[in-house]
Amino acid sequence: MKRGSSSIISSIVTFSGSNDFTLGGVAVTLRVSPRATRLRLRVDPRTRAVLLTVPRRVSARRAMAWAVGHRDWVEAALAAIPAGTPIGPDAQVPLHGRLHRIDWAPGRPRRIEVADGRLIAGGPIEGLEGRVLRWLKALAAARLDAETRALAARAGVAIVRVGVGDPVSRWGSCSAGGGIRYSWRLIFAPEFVRRATVAHEVAHLVHLNHGAEFHALVKRLLGADPAPARAWLKREGPALHRIGRGF
Ligand SMILES: [Zn+2]
Repeated sequence: MKRGSSSIISSIVTFSGSNDFTLGGVAVTLRVSPRATRLRLRVDPRTRAVLLTVPRRVSARRAMAWAVGHRDWVEAALAAIPAGTPIGPDAQVPLHGRLHRIDWAPGRPRRIEVADGRLIAGGPIEGLEGRVLRWLKALAAARLDAETRALAARAGVAIVRVGVGDPVSRWGSCSAGGGIRYSWRLIFAPEFVRRATVAHEVAHLVHLNHGAEFHALVKRLLGADPAPARAWLKREGPALHRIGRGF
């Protein structure tokens, strides 16, 4: 970048490495993508990371100037991300849509147990958050696996594999080969939300589209209208991505 070639860039953009820069104090990772056809700014609602994707034919200098022009958008996107909920003693964590307090004492066993609105935990404070998150993920994987297999049996379809991950934009996804993956964070949501997501994915094993027959099957498998579950995820979903992230 030529010095002084653009006063607005030099005053707002600060270089911190070959591919990263800061935009008004916000760290931005610049990634050159051979597949990208246009410049794209993305804010990851899980980590608050800001990524600038740049097509090969666009210079880094032009890409950064473009990013400067979208500074307000980046700030608004970051401001819209709910505050993180770190998991520690006395933190409130939703489980099946209901807040549970982390009731921790060092003398107790490390094994986590649920009792009347509390998650009872022990062991050293170091690693408590990791232990609680691993326990929640395992619980999510077991519940989603059982519920998916039960609904698949009712729909008369074969399930190859059920897994969980931490995707940013989808609560569930299915492959043509009969595998279904969910966000483990569905364990925070009320049961009607989790079940509607399962019904949606199982119905995709029968209909790989969002047509009328697909929607009729979702409703039949769920025994209810899935619209309230969709509305719940739209409204509350962003906060679920922030649990266990103390920033
Ligand atoms: Zn779908």
